[in-house]
Amino acid sequence: MITRRDVRLVRTASLHEYQRALTAAACAGGPALVRRTAVLVPTRAAAVQLQRTFEHLRLDAPGAAMVLPDLLTRTEWYERLRLSQDTPGEWLTAFDREVLLQSGAHEAITEGILPPFHLRPALYGEMLELYDELRRRQRGGGDFERLLAGELEPRASTDRGAERMLRQTLFLAAAFRSYERRMADAGGLDEHAFRNWLIDARVELKYARVIVAVGDRVVEPGGLWPADFDLLVRAAGVDRIDIVATDAQLAAGLHARIHDLLPAIDELRGTPVDAPLDERVLVVPSEGDALFHTSRDREDEIAAVVRRVKARRRETPGAVRLDRTAVIVARPLPYVYVARGVFEAARVPFQCDDALPLAAEPGAAALDLVLAFVSSRASRSATVALLRSPHVTLGGDAPPIPPDAVEALDRALADIGYSGDPARLGRLADEWEQGQAATDPRTAALRRRAASAARAGATLADHLALLFDAAPASAHLEALGRFVLAHGHVPGPTDAEYGRLLRARAALLMLLDGLASAHRRHGDLRWTIDDLAATVRRWIESHTFSPRSGEAGVHLVDATAARFGVFDDVHLVGLVEGEWPSPPRRNVFYSPVLLQPLGWPAETARLAAARASFADLLGLARQRTSVSHFLLEDDSLVGPAALLDDVARAALTPLARGDAAELIFTAEALAVRPAVAAALSGEPAAWLRLRHARTEATHESFHGTALPHLPRTHSVGAVELYAQCPFKYFARHVLRLEEESDDEIGLTPRERGIVLHEVFHAFFERWQAEVGRVVTPADLPRARALLEDVMAARLAHLSPSDAGIERTRLLGSPVAAGLADLVLRMEAERGVPVVDRRLEERFDGVFELLGTDGARRLPIRGVVDRIDLLADGALRVIDYKSSVPPAALQLAIYAVTAAQRLQGHRGRRWTVGEVSYVVFNGARVRPVGRNADDRGRALADAQLRFVAAADAIHAGAFPPRPAVEHLCNSCAYAGVCRMDHVAEPEDADTAAAV
Ligand code: SF4
Repeated sequence: MITRRDVRLVRTASLHEYQRALTAAACAGGPALVRRTAVLVPTRAAAVQLQRTFEHLRLDAPGAAMVLPDLLTRTEWYERLRLSQDTPGEWLTAFDREVLLQSGAHEAITEGILPPFHLRPALYGEMLELYDELRRRQRGGGDFERLLAGELEPRASTDRGAERMLRQTLFLAAAFRSYERRMADAGGLDEHAFRNWLIDARVELKYARVIVAVGDRVVEPGGLWPADFDLLVRAAGVDRIDIVATDAQLAAGLHARIHDLLPAIDELRGTPVDAPLDERVLVVPSEGDALFHTSRDREDEIAAVVRRVKARRRETPGAVRLDRTAVIVARPLPYVYVARGVFEAARVPFQCDDALPLAAEPGAAALDLVLAFVSSRASRSATVALLRSPHVTLGGDAPPIPPDAVEALDRALADIGYSGDPARLGRLADEWEQGQAATDPRTAALRRRAASAARAGATLADHLALLFDAAPASAHLEALGRFVLAHGHVPGPTDAEYGRLLRARAALLMLLDGLASAHRRHGDLRWTIDDLAATVRRWIESHTFSPRSGEAGVHLVDATAARFGVFDDVHLVGLVEGEWPSPPRRNVFYSPVLLQPLGWPAETARLAAARASFADLLGLARQRTSVSHFLLEDDSLVGPAALLDDVARAALTPLARGDAAELIFTAEALAVRPAVAAALSGEPAAWLRLRHARTEATHESFHGTALPHLPRTHSVGAVELYAQCPFKYFARHVLRLEEESDDEIGLTPRERGIVLHEVFHAFFERWQAEVGRVVTPADLPRARALLEDVMAARLAHLSPSDAGIERTRLLGSPVAAGLADLVLRMEAERGVPVVDRRLEERFDGVFELLGTDGARRLPIRGVVDRIDLLADGALRVIDYKSSVPPAALQLAIYAVTAAQRLQGHRGRRWTVGEVSYVVFNGARVRPVGRNADDRGRALADAQLRFVAAADAIHAGAFPPRPAVEHLCNSCAYAGVCRMDHVAEPEDADTAAAV
């Protein structure tokens, strides 16, 4: 029931009048009254803008001072009211309330009122949101159950959807009842109970005058609810309430809604602005007849705004102040991050007061890594990511883990097929520290380097031990809090953005502590790491904090706060679908139609309010306005906002201006040839001077020419790599850079190759030992059975899913033959008996190869997968490969060297016969040469290329020149390769010949 008091609606024709009306209403009267005045604004950023506006409109001399009223958001207003009273119960935090509701939901389930959905942690937040909205719309749990159950019950017996909704309603109503009972039992007070107490107990409020500068919830998310208006007019102590709104907002439905809520409200018009503004213009593109600007993406859009700002300052020096220029966005993200980069690059100062998500802070990201580490049970990628994070330390004075130790751990864990086990990390650290389990010197060295990182991973896992098992929620949260305290990076005064990092850390610790305390007091459910991770992540994602960016310059401000600021120039950006207006926040439990009888607004009312706000903003600038949108977001097309149609209706005079084309960004000045030194200063200018002082980019050393490289012997595989790309050879065999290990699900191509090699090797060894002859067509069933036997033993070391994939690859499926059939048939179909079979044969010696200048003797080494010595004196040379290598040099050289090595073996002469790749991908045989002549030419060509490559290696020629271009797409050395940055080398004739 609303009582009569001095309640006025102040109508204003524009935002300029609106700001004056707010100033007049809030600052009128003596200092005592102003101090007892609250101005309710939608956001903290809006409060900052309004305070500046008050000072701008009221303070006419520098150094003057004024008494300001309290500028408060709705939440802050309740907080001030609460802190000013001796409340009859303990205030419940958001954490307390959610835990109480969680316990209420479990009680409902225990009583047999089951929800038709799985209760996940994220749903508790949604349930509380629904409960709050009902109460703020002055609907109790009884109304909710009666109205929805009344609507759903008649259909529930015939409609499964209605039956499900009914069960959901009964469950939610029971959970809400239990929540209220538990709150009363705990002697707690939430916002709704507090409001009721203020009204029922006739408690005198701290504020005698309240100026409402927000609309209702239909107009904006920070607006007031019916229950707030009710409190305003019924609570004791408030003598005067002024609701200030623009004509556009009132005409869009706010007028009718306010009269519904406050039927006895008086209306008056705000004082018109005394001096008419100069002609106000809309800056439009110089070409075409569009009234708004179009950019490729957000970054381009902000860059175009910066160009306009700079051009305007040049056109009218001194006439435009940067702090009277606003870039207005629908919502701060991602513009805050985009603008920071673009404005800084253009050296234009900018400021922003908007709240930022806690989730984007480095400390929160590090906490996410900790949760991933535990939930994956210390998997390789999660362990490495945790150890790499500069925001996680080993605690105390322990020195940081060197990055190369972490890289070594990554490779070492990949090599042993580690799939995650915190206890195993400790055992591996023990083994590797003691030098055990090393198979070769290179692996031993890698493991020695990895040992300290493995130990660090094991130590962190020890400190998180409690989280690996189920435990009471409060114990999990306390353990996580202790870990953050002990191992979270503590920013020092020398850290960039020291204050901000410190506040983010404090916010995280408070969040964990608040949640732990709520669970301890109101319901300590048993949690797994998944419950902990889901809950903590959700709270972090919903948490914002307000690190102010910049102190001066252009304002980056959201549309809600912008209407409170005084600006000469305004740039409305990001006018794309789904942003202007923002999409409504959907209720996850019910459709809008079902909720309308409970007071939820229709979508049309929200859109009308958004349209009215946009119309107001088009009139906000005192001098110039521009409007823009962009076309691409993450490579997807985005459509323009429908609100762009309203630009034509703004009372602004179009003024055509092209976006200035000159260089304003450091990157632009550096990118043109020659770079524009005059446009640079500070670090970029120093960098350019250094760059100019360096050797010319055309110098041969930048194009792959190094000092001579003289290996003791040429590995055939290494020379094959040179033939694929000389720079790859240089990276791996001269610089000795390790290839990045792939973080793939399942076996990597290399691991798969090893498994298949081992299976065929073991098969032919056993076949030779047990049967002792070539596989004939009649032997195929037996050979296949033996292969399956060998394979089963080898695949037993793999995970079930990897083993299944490799089994299918080997044995085939109903739709495709497998590799086993291919290899066995290849042998059975040839028919010539095998007198000897040499598997994985290593060789190292001096061989004679044909070069362009005649025969050359070169030291060569390698390992041949398989050589069959056939009864007719031919050698069959086989190489198992996942795909045919682009240079296809290796197998031919194996054949040539095998023929030389085996001369006289068994007292006879051997010639090269079949030379084939058995290709795993696609299960096929690829011979080198279709017939004997072809093969002869291929072997000769391979020798010429091998000799040329060996000479080029000796000469130190390593140009980045892939044999086929697509090699660069999957090259592990692309990160260190200058391929993209160099012109074709002029002096690499030797390499070109390879
Ligand atoms: S990225 Fe291309 S050019 Fe560079 S090393 Fe790899 S394959 Fe060669």
